[in-house]
Amino acid sequence: METMGRFAPSPSGRIHLGNILCCLLAWLSARQKGGRVILRIEDLDTARCPARYGEQMCRDIHWLGLDWDEGPGVGGPSGPYEQSRRTGLYQAALERLEAQGLVYPCFCTRAELHAASAPHREDGQVIYPGTCRRLSPEEAAERARRTGRPPALRLRVPEEEITFTDGHMGTYGEDLPRDCGDFLLRRSDGMFAYQLAVVVDDAAMGVTEVVRGADLLASTPRQLLLYRLLGLQPPAFYHFPLLLDSRGRRLSKRNADAGLDTLGQRYTAPEILGKLAFLAGFHPSAEPRTGEELLAEFDWDKVPRTDIRIPEGLF
Ligand code: GLU
Repeated sequence: METMGRFAPSPSGRIHLGNILCCLLAWLSARQKGGRVILRIEDLDTARCPARYGEQMCRDIHWLGLDWDEGPGVGGPSGPYEQSRRTGLYQAALERLEAQGLVYPCFCTRAELHAASAPHREDGQVIYPGTCRRLSPEEAAERARRTGRPPALRLRVPEEEITFTDGHMGTYGEDLPRDCGDFLLRRSDGMFAYQLAVVVDDAAMGVTEVVRGADLLASTPRQLLLYRLLGLQPPAFYHFPLLLDSRGRRLSKRNADAGLDTLGQRYTAPEILGKLAFLAGFHPSAEPRTGEELLAEFDWDKVPRTDIRIPEGLF
């Protein structure tokens, strides 16, 4: 089967080192196997990800010299390639889950969940305590009337541990009721959840391998559950370690100099890619390299499995 890789950035700002490393690794991993690459713009949150940011992200990835076979500007059989234009597919998947009796309305506000001191995951998300799980249809209708706003929708998770073998990080599993709880499929404002959209899209686009940051490792058991419930074939997963700034903190928008607006003024694309490949362990020095040149050097076995600190002065 031909490898189909993808990069799926959420354009809530200018592309930064974390996204660039993701694009580079996804591109190298697929291309090295002779595979194809899709670019999908994950702009479900249209307030945070306006269309012009998505367009800028495409220009940035192009500037870096990483190409895609399907996606914005290229087209392809699985379009559109912007999640904001694919909500009909997410609605259809939601209805398939509803038909299995696995979806229920949730009236809890964020403030209520925090006030109820529900336990939190390491990533800060609330482990949903199941407050609305047991509401009868009459009680749910009464809540809807009382709150006067549409409910969010959650998936009833089974009493089960879901374990998988990541192509890079090894075995990872979660006991969904204990570690996550019933998770959101659609927010009360109608926005579909990332977990549902990403599964629907990767399956519909024929993606065979997903390469992304280790912050999403913990989402994978939820996604594998959705693949199963929707009768879809899951891809292989490769999670790579996160980049930390020179003080050991997760890179974020705080690190203004990690965005391509600043980096692009200081460095050429091969300079940026060479430094990232060096940090990711498969390029022996920080010398400039194009994506094409790095194909000969790329090796998952050389990529670290723990967070990567960017040394002072490298960028
Ligand atoms: N859109 C997500 C992000 O930019 C990535 C989703 C994924 O790769 O599954 O963090």
